[in-house]
Amino acid sequence: MSEFSVDDEKITYISEQFQVDKSQVGLIHKLFSRVIDGVKNQYLAHVVRCMESYIRKKTGNPMFQINTFPLDPASPVLNVGCAQYYPERYFSIFFHPRMDERQLRACLAHELGHLFIIELLNEEKFDGSEPFDKTTLTEPISSIFGIFTIMDKNHFYKETASNFNHHSWEALIQTFIHLQEKTAN
Ligand SMILES: [Zn+2]
Repeated sequence: MSEFSVDDEKITYISEQFQVDKSQVGLIHKLFSRVIDGVKNQYLAHVVRCMESYIRKKTGNPMFQINTFPLDPASPVLNVGCAQYYPERYFSIFFHPRMDERQLRACLAHELGHLFIIELLNEEKFDGSEPFDKTTLTEPISSIFGIFTIMDKNHFYKETASNFNHHSWEALIQTFIHLQEKTAN
């Protein structure tokens, strides 16, 4: 059992520390697990969220969405993604669920690159050439956006993220006990 996997020992400990019935803690864990199960399809969530938020402001449409969808696992289209764009409304990316995880992230970053080019790069284009749109060839520059995206993610996982981790599960629980003490006053 790894340091941060939730097991019966940890559930008992949490229940004692917070004086909450153990069955209640178990139920919260069960419901949390149900919600977090969807995280598997939320690849590159930080980048997706930032782009969504930027484009919502730019288009004035607070409902603008970027979504990623797994294809049918039996689909023969392996190792490529594809995207559909409905300008100012939504951008959908489809991927093969059996794609190698590293390849999948690169593939999604490339597809996001197409949206980036149409929505953001046009704003900065002063060379007099035609603006990019849905019909413009946006290869290979969408891959350049993809490279910067994955560089940023690699940097985050390798250099930044480890600083956020607690050293042990007990230390993590202590953080919340201290939080509770502060908010109780
Ligand atoms: Zn492409």
